[in-house]
Amino acid sequence: VTAYWCENAWLPEGVVASVRVAGVDGVVSQVEVGASPQPGDVPLRGVVIPGMANAHSHAFHRALRGRTHDDGGTFWTWRERMYAVAARLDPDSYLRLATAVYAEMALAGITAVGEFHYLHHGPGGVPYDDPNAMGLALVDAARTAGIRITLLDACYLEGGLDASGYLPLDPVQRRFSDGDAERWLDRVLALQSGTADRDHVVVGRAIHSVRAVRPGDFSTVADNRIGGPLHVHLSEQRAENDACLAVHGCTPTALLEREWLFDEELTVVHAVHLTDADVRLLGRGGVSVCACPTTEADLADGIAPFGRLARAGAQICLGSDQQVQTDLLVEAQRLDQHERLLSGRRGSFRPSGMVHDLTVSGHRSLGWPLAGEISRGHRLDLVALRLDSVRTAGAALEQVLTCATATDVTDVVVDGERVVTDGQHRLGDVGRLLQEAIEPLWA
Ligand SMILES: [Zn+2]
Repeated sequence: VTAYWCENAWLPEGVVASVRVAGVDGVVSQVEVGASPQPGDVPLRGVVIPGMANAHSHAFHRALRGRTHDDGGTFWTWRERMYAVAARLDPDSYLRLATAVYAEMALAGITAVGEFHYLHHGPGGVPYDDPNAMGLALVDAARTAGIRITLLDACYLEGGLDASGYLPLDPVQRRFSDGDAERWLDRVLALQSGTADRDHVVVGRAIHSVRAVRPGDFSTVADNRIGGPLHVHLSEQRAENDACLAVHGCTPTALLEREWLFDEELTVVHAVHLTDADVRLLGRGGVSVCACPTTEADLADGIAPFGRLARAGAQICLGSDQQVQTDLLVEAQRLDQHERLLSGRRGSFRPSGMVHDLTVSGHRSLGWPLAGEISRGHRLDLVALRLDSVRTAGAALEQVLTCATATDVTDVVVDGERVVTDGQHRLGDVGRLLQEAIEPLWA
């Protein structure tokens, strides 16, 4: 039995003082409110929230942080830089990079990551000896960094979509493609059986976007032999909508609905450029919508109608996406701030809702239904936030998430294990690990 004594804990019913959380084999066995610490208990000061789920990540994009701001451009020119980094990675360098990136996530209170993975093959699209070498590097990286991973293996078969139709793959994009959807499926089924004994992994499915997969291939990607989460990039840029309308006669959202992809396992990512009908469809469909506000701002995507989506019934979760920052608290704050700018009203996303979106909704989107709450039977994931920093001092306990940042995370417990203690990751100096992984990619 492991036990943690929390000065304050964010339980499903609200914030409560003096909470003892005991666990067996990484699962919460008992939550005692108003308890005194017992000998051997690990004390956690400040306020303890459940582990946060980062519902949308591309680990390798971390190598672009602070390196793409010198000459303006657009999403599409940024993508050229991203492809240049992708071209240099192999399973060894990706293992080093992703380990450091996931350790940075752990420091920020992220206990599970949804890795939207499309960098599958070697240069020119030639498979590695193990065709899942890159995905397995990500799985190993998460284990070493101490977090769980949902590997959303993305099907990526086309080079893009414009008004004339689908475009051929360019040389870097060949690394993303399995050639056809059946071969993608075979590879992912092998990945799933090869990782079945690992408790920290869920293998899920992803359609990169309506730009990269033809609708005729959607049903193969949604194959229920894989099951679990299905994620899709959706309407991040207007150009995708324009091309989809020209070629398929409908919006990307309507295309997903037409091809029967709407259910509770579906998460659409970004959903920036939506019609009123799209908002209604996503709300009715029981779909999760993943907001990545710092990425959407950084890439000049636009402001998505997340307030309207939430009111229509969509489940909102959050992701760090291209890692412009690794701070889900800031993502949730930016989501609310963007909504204020759009709506002219304050506080469509309340602090308690922010916690729900970061924990329960995020884990639901990633296929971890028994994670995201401090309650019996859930994964023993705890994140302690300081209440005495220059950012948080003086804040009301229930509103501290509107001003805390990743810097205020002091302790992180994942599946009962202490991964971060007093702001230190168990791997040591994560900044140095990042530097050692990133600098060779630009040499
Ligand atoms: Zn993305």
